[in-house]
Amino acid sequence: MPGNRILVSKRNMIIPHVEENLDRGGFDLRRLAPVACPCCGMPTRVQVSGENCTKTLFCDNTACPTRYLRQFVHFAGEKAMDIEGLSESKLEKLLGWGFLHSFTDIYRLDAHKDDIVTMDGFGEKSWQNLWEAIQRSRETTFERYLCAMDIPMVGSTASRALAKQFHSSLDEFEAAILDGFDFSSLPDFGATLSGNIHDWFQVEEHWYLWTELREWVHIAPPEAPAETPVAAENPFAGKTVVVTGKVEPYTRGEMNSFIESIGAVAGSSVTSKTNYLVCGDKAGSKLDKARSLGIPVLTPDEFFAMAQAS
Ligand SMILES: [Zn+2]
Repeated sequence: MPGNRILVSKRNMIIPHVEENLDRGGFDLRRLAPVACPCCGMPTRVQVSGENCTKTLFCDNTACPTRYLRQFVHFAGEKAMDIEGLSESKLEKLLGWGFLHSFTDIYRLDAHKDDIVTMDGFGEKSWQNLWEAIQRSRETTFERYLCAMDIPMVGSTASRALAKQFHSSLDEFEAAILDGFDFSSLPDFGATLSGNIHDWFQVEEHWYLWTELREWVHIAPPEAPAETPVAAENPFAGKTVVVTGKVEPYTRGEMNSFIESIGAVAGSSVTSKTNYLVCGDKAGSKLDKARSLGIPVLTPDEFFAMAQAS
């Protein structure tokens, strides 16, 4: 809270870590969260979701300039189209100058090249680098393409699973949408996620983006399945594994990549389809849920030992 005194230490030489809040207490979300969006002034909304009751602050104004900017930042981001150097500040300028109205305008920026190179923060060299990065991003993957669409809850993990299911084919995926495919039949896809995908495609603008972007990109064919002996023999192959708590020194992303590398599915929530829960430090409600469902719980050490034993 504003005015609290905290004790901070340096970790790993440089990273500041809050050790203790000396003035704990008096936490009041309503005092901290703005009731109006600092950008557009429209009322904000706090949404409570998930098993940890995470509170998220939203501005629902679809015409909010900051929301608009953030959508472009997501589109150009590492997990989506991965356009190197197209930073938030560059996007803010390009939007401000009126050169970008839709995502695909990024691929038509050369029409404004003569203006852009004379603008503050852009020179001939910086334009060249940016334009090359934009061209490179056109060689992309199914996962990135889907991530770029920004469908609620469809991030890189869900996109990877969908790439597997639909053989990295946008056509196959599109046919599934038109067919009303039930995505909740996939491991770790709940009804909400399945509904989000179908709802997203109900919006005409979204279909337009989905179709139009395809003219600018080339999607890489699916990777040959890496059937390493480890993947075939380890006990997790084909199973859904969920991680909870901290597994030092790995990030959740690294753990999920490892789980996928051994041929298992990385789940994000514990459901009746979960086969194993790997429980690190400070486990939350997932542990209780796994116990109540009778799902085997492993320590990180047990998990790594089993994954590597075969
Ligand atoms: Zn706003």
